[in-house]
Amino acid sequence: MTHVGVMGGGLQGCCIAMALADHGARVTLFDRNPALLTRAAVANEGKVHLGYMYGGDPSLRTAKMMMRGALSFAPLLCRWLANDAGDFETSDPAAYVVHRCSQQEPDRIHAYLNAVHRLIQDAVGTSRRGDYFNADLASPIRPWSKRELEIELSNQALAAFQSPEVAIDPVALADLIRQRIAATPTIEVRTNHLITAVDLERSRVASTSNDIQHDDGFDHIVNSLWDGRIAIDSTAGMRPRRKWIHRLKYGVSFRPPDAARPARSMTIVLGPFGEVVRYRNGTVYLTWYPSCLTDRTFDAEPPFWPIMPDEPLRSTIFGGTYSGLAAIHPVLSEYAADELSDVVVRGGPIVAWGETDIDDPNSELHNRFEIGVTSVGRYHSVDPGKLTMAPYFADECARRIIGAVSTHAVSGCRAV
Ligand SMILES: Cc1cc2nc3c(=O)[nH]c(=O)nc-3n(C[C@H](O)[C@H](O)[C@H](O)COP(=O)(O)OP(=O)(O)OC[C@H]3O[C@@H](n4cnc5c(N)ncnc54)[C@H](O)[C@@H]3O)c2cc1C
Repeated sequence: MTHVGVMGGGLQGCCIAMALADHGARVTLFDRNPALLTRAAVANEGKVHLGYMYGGDPSLRTAKMMMRGALSFAPLLCRWLANDAGDFETSDPAAYVVHRCSQQEPDRIHAYLNAVHRLIQDAVGTSRRGDYFNADLASPIRPWSKRELEIELSNQALAAFQSPEVAIDPVALADLIRQRIAATPTIEVRTNHLITAVDLERSRVASTSNDIQHDDGFDHIVNSLWDGRIAIDSTAGMRPRRKWIHRLKYGVSFRPPDAARPARSMTIVLGPFGEVVRYRNGTVYLTWYPSCLTDRTFDAEPPFWPIMPDEPLRSTIFGGTYSGLAAIHPVLSEYAADELSDVVVRGGPIVAWGETDIDDPNSELHNRFEIGVTSVGRYHSVDPGKLTMAPYFADECARRIIGAVSTHAVSGCRAV
C-alpha cells in the first residue's frame, strides 16, 4: 500500500488525505496544532467562488480557475464524506454591490458578471444543478430594483447584482471532515508535530513533537502547509521565482436576535471593501478590509499569527467592521450590540503572489489563477490559493500520486 506523508491539516491537507484514502493509499497527516482544521480553514467565510469576485482580472483566467474549483467542490466532498449537496450548511446567495468608490463602474461590473455567468452556464449545461449546492445557475444575473436598493442599501452603494454564489459554513464543514478522518483507519493523524524540513532525495520528513525529533520516510510527500508552505519548500530546495505576500485577515461572526430583519448576503466590489454572509442557520459573518486586514509580511515564513485576537485589537476589529458594513447595509444597525449572541472574531493568514494590496488595481492579488500542485518527483507542493480550490487540487494531487505509483509499479522500478 502506498504510504503518503501529508504535511498540514487544514482544508487542503485533509481533502488530500481523504482523496488518497479513497484511492486506497495509506496516509500520515501532520499538523503543528493539537487538532485538525484550526487555522485559515475555519477562519474564513467559506465563499465557494464561481469567479464573479475577480473583475480585476479581465482575462477571465482567475474566474475560470475558481469555477473549476467551485463546480467540483460539493461533488468531491459529497463523495469523500458520503454526504448530499443539500446537507451542507450554506448561505443565502450573494449580491454583488458596487461601492461608490469602486475601482470600476456598475456597467462594467455588470458586463463582467454576465461574462462569468455565461461561462458557468456553458460549463454546467442544464442538467448538473447539483454540482453547485443545488443553486439556480440557469437564471440570469439580476440587477436589484430601485426599491430593493432603497430598502437594503445606503447611498454608498451605486448598484447591486444578484448572483447564485453561496458560502459554506467552514466550521460546520470542519466538523464533518474531522469525523470522517477519525473514522478512516488508513489515515493516521499526528497533531502537535511541527514540520521542520523535507529531504527530497530520501523522501523523508523531519518534525518535532514535545521536543523529540522525528524523521519519517514515505513513498510520496505532500506539502499543504499554506502559510508554512514556502519555508518548507525551500528546505527541499524549491524556491518561488516571484514575490509573494502573507496577509493576516480577520472576520466577525454572530447570531442576530431571533425576530430581527435578516441581513442580505453581499460582496462589495471592487476594491478593499468587504462582505456580509448570512448562513441558512441564521449566523452572520462580516469582513471589512479597512478593519480586518491587520498585518502583512513578505518574509518566507510569516509569524505564527494568532487566530483569535487579544483585546484591544478584538474590539477594534469588531467595531470597525460592524460600523463599516452597517453604513452600507443599514439592517445591521437595527441589531443592538448587546442583543448579538455567539460573537466570534477569528482570522488567519492569506498567502498569494504579489507585492501590493488589492487597493492597487494592478496588484497581482486580482489574479489567482497561478496556483495548484507543483510536483518534483515524489514531492508535491500544493497552493490552493483559496478554500474554493482545495477539493479540486486534492483530487488532482491524489490522482498524480496514484498515477505515478501505478506507472512505477507497472515498470517495476518504484523507489521506496
Ligand atoms: C479571513 C479569511 C477569509 C477568507 N475567505 C475565503 C473565502 O470566502 N473563500 C475562499 O475560497 N477562500 C477564503 N479564504 C482563503 C482560505 O481560507 C484559504 O485559501 C485556505 O483555507 C487555505 O488552505 P488550508 O485550509 O489548508 O490552510 P490552513 O487551515 O491554514 O492549513 C494549514 C495547516 O498547516 C499547519 N502548519 C503550517 N505550518 C506548519 C508546520 N511548519 N508544521 C506543521 N503544521 C504546520 C497549520 O497549523 C494549519 O493547520 C479566506 C482566508 C481568510 C484568512
